[in-house]
Amino acid sequence: MKKKKKNVVTDEKKVNIVMGTKQPIVYYKHSYHVYCPICNHDFIGSDYLKTVFKDNQKALWLANMVTHHRHSHITWWNKCWGWHGGYYREASHFGNYDDEKKKVNEQAKRVIARKCADYLVLHGINEDVFSMLQNTEEKTLEVVKKVFKTHEMPAA
Ligand SMILES: [Zn+2]
Repeated sequence: MKKKKKNVVTDEKKVNIVMGTKQPIVYYKHSYHVYCPICNHDFIGSDYLKTVFKDNQKALWLANMVTHHRHSHITWWNKCWGWHGGYYREASHFGNYDDEKKKVNEQAKRVIARKCADYLVLHGINEDVFSMLQNTEEKTLEVVKKVFKTHEMPAA
């Protein structure tokens, strides 16, 4: 009988290994790709954000993630500002675009902090990086600090 209990690589572990080796940002000739650990895919980074965060790759990753989260992970946001936007905005008592965007961005930062905890710790994307983004609230920074306290550095 074979006993191979040791070193069993579960699917979850495999995913973590792949995630850990994925760089937050990869540059190409005319564009750059940003890695999203939530959907495990790359997406094309924003040219505008690149000019804002040209000296800080971690903040650039995070800023792209916040935008990506709003556009790809929150379907109701797209409903509100898409084709039938007026109807949805009225139905959900939407306020002004900028206020709503601020609120949604803050929620996105906290979701990213929770869902990408291991990835953030591994790449050192800590509360200092979060505080570089616009309007980051104390409440959000607390979530990030907690993530860094409760998640160990994953073994490479
Ligand atoms: Zn994603």
